[in-house]
Amino acid sequence: MPETRKGLIIVFTGPGKGKTTAALGTAFRAIGQGMKVLMVQFIKGSWHYGELDTCRMLGEDKIRILPMGRGFVKVGVEKPDQEDVRMVEEAWKFASQAITGGEYDLVILDEVNYAVSYKMLDPARVVETLRQKPEMVHVILTGRNAHPSIVECADLVTEMREVKHPYQKGILAQRGIEY
Ligand code: ATP
Ligand code: MG
Repeated sequence: MPETRKGLIIVFTGPGKGKTTAALGTAFRAIGQGMKVLMVQFIKGSWHYGELDTCRMLGEDKIRILPMGRGFVKVGVEKPDQEDVRMVEEAWKFASQAITGGEYDLVILDEVNYAVSYKMLDPARVVETLRQKPEMVHVILTGRNAHPSIVECADLVTEMREVKHPYQKGILAQRGIEY
């Protein structure tokens, strides 16, 4: 393998399942290479996610996952809830410092695209931080509807396309697959 390392900006977006788990899969690979990983979750889900326990098994020196969202966001309302905005702001301050600080080899901004598309975070701030990131740091941004300016500054963009989802057959979220 060539040894010219370059930190990549990676976007996993689109309506199909697999965005967050693709980021976790990359983390799994990176940890094996001795890299340090941070995942900041902008929107915390309502389940207890298996990956939080996997993290504890691996140890905080290898991977940290920080759920910094409120668990749900009211959709379809015109203005986002101020409490959601405050939590996104806090998560963003923490995440952007973690990126520019260079302490982590890989920083995952889980569901950050969602925070941007619901107007809780200005995409210009995200792009500014990505431009300022230390050369070697890899950043993964997940969530549907990635903002065009973020797609523009990324090196790798994958759009998950829904072909089938068990939800269509009325099969509910499965332990170990969805959470
Ligand atoms: P995962 O965390 O499983 O990789 P994701 O990050 O691509 O999924 P999100 O948009 O973050 O998906 O949504 C999280 C939850 O919604 C997951 O439980 C996932 O299974 C479910 N989900 C994702 N895509 C679909 C879909 N196309 N139809 C129904 N449910 C979906
Ligand atoms: Mg996700």
